Parts: sequence; structure tokens; C-alpha cells
Amino acid sequence: MLRPSVTRSPPKRRNTQRISMISRIRHFIQGSTKISPDIYQITVMGANIILIAEEKLTLIDTGYRNTSLHIIESIHQLGRSPEDIGLIIITHNHIDHVGGLAELKPLTSAKVAIHRTDIGQRKNLPSARDQDIDIRLEGGDVFDVLGGLEVIHTPGHTPGSICLFSRQNKLLIVGDALRKRRNVIHIPHKTLSFDLTQAVESARKLAQLDCDTICFGHGLPLTGGIHSKMQDLVARITEGV
Ligand SMILES: [Zn+2]
Ligand SMILES: [Zn+2]
Repeated sequence: MLRPSVTRSPPKRRNTQRISMISRIRHFIQGSTKISPDIYQITVMGANIILIAEEKLTLIDTGYRNTSLHIIESIHQLGRSPEDIGLIIITHNHIDHVGGLAELKPLTSAKVAIHRTDIGQRKNLPSARDQDIDIRLEGGDVFDVLGGLEVIHTPGHTPGSICLFSRQNKLLIVGDALRKRRNVIHIPHKTLSFDLTQAVESARKLAQLDCDTICFGHGLPLTGGIHSKMQDLVARITEGV
């Protein structure tokens, strides 16, 4: 009787590993991650939206087109409503970050903010058009969110890419200014970037910040050991790797 149980055991472990891999992949595509009691990452079709729940709600990015139902569902799960959204900040004018704006904005009371150099229609794609934008950002602007959410202009991926930094929470939201692969931080893909030299300079700027958590435009947040991971990135970009 012992034999079968011994031979059954290894496949069971493999199965558990497989399920956890599948759930990680699913989560990468669609899911919700609680970053702190009042900060959530909502992932729809592989694109991340950050929801900050204070007296008013703040959204950072809006995902692809047709993602508003998922965002609204996450807001309802907190016992809040889309009308509570007072501010939508767009990290950059790409379809996977701004695509949901046109359908979401009318359901909210939100002002929409994006860096002034990223405003404009992009080849018939959903994009941040002049008429959609209420606040034209510059580096150094600070929102009254999380005790002061600072705008850092990090051009490279697009001319007006921004990151958002909360000193209070030691949280850095980078959009696509940085990306993560197997817990290693990288600059944006060359082919997807407007100006790689600028992207490198922006990464150096971000490496000077004191943060514990980075939220990316795609993938799960990175927590812990950020300082050494950013120093590692700076060393690699300095060597041109
Ligand atoms: Zn992008
Ligand atoms: Zn993206």
C-alpha cells in the first residue's frame, strides 16, 4: 500500500507547481494586487492600472480600450463608485495606458493629467487628445495624493513619459519608463522607445530615489532590494549591456 502513495506524490507536487505557474500567468494578464491598504494594482489584458483610494479616488493609467468594466468592478469591490474618481494621471500616451480614457472619463468626476509633450492623436489610435486633457504636466509638479505625489519627467520611451513618486509610501510608479524581467530591472525595449539615450538618462535619475516598491506598466510590482537592483541597472547601462 505504501508503494502507490510514494509514486503518486511527485506528480502531485508537479501539478501544484503547474497550477501556481498558471495562476501567476493569469495574474499577469488579469487580476488585482493590493500594494498597501489604500493602493491597488488592477491588471487588465496585461496592462496595469493603479488605483489609490483616499477620500477621492485617483487612477494612474486606464489600460486598453474596453477595460472600464473591470476597473469599475474593482472600484465597486472597495464599496466606492466611479464618480469618486477625482483624478486620472496618464504615465504616457500609448494605447495600453490611455486606451480606456475615453469610455471611463464620462463616468467619473475626474480631471485628466498627462505630460504636456505627450498630448496628441496617434495614428487613429485611442490616445490623449488635446480635448481630453485638463492638466498639462511638467516634471516637479506635485499632486495632493498620498501626502504628495511627485511627477518625474522621464523621457525616452515617449517624449512625455512620467513616473510618479510617493516619498511617504516609498513607492515609485514607472509606467513603461522601466520594465522588469525575472525580477531584474531594465530600461524600455529599444524598438518600442522614442529615444533610448533619453531612456538611459531617465533610468539614472530614477536610481537616485529612495523607494521600497516599484509598480510597472506591465507585470507584478517589485518590492525589496530596490536600491541594489537599481544600482545594478545603472552599472549595466553604463557598460552598455
Ligand atoms: Zn508604452
Ligand atoms: Zn505599456
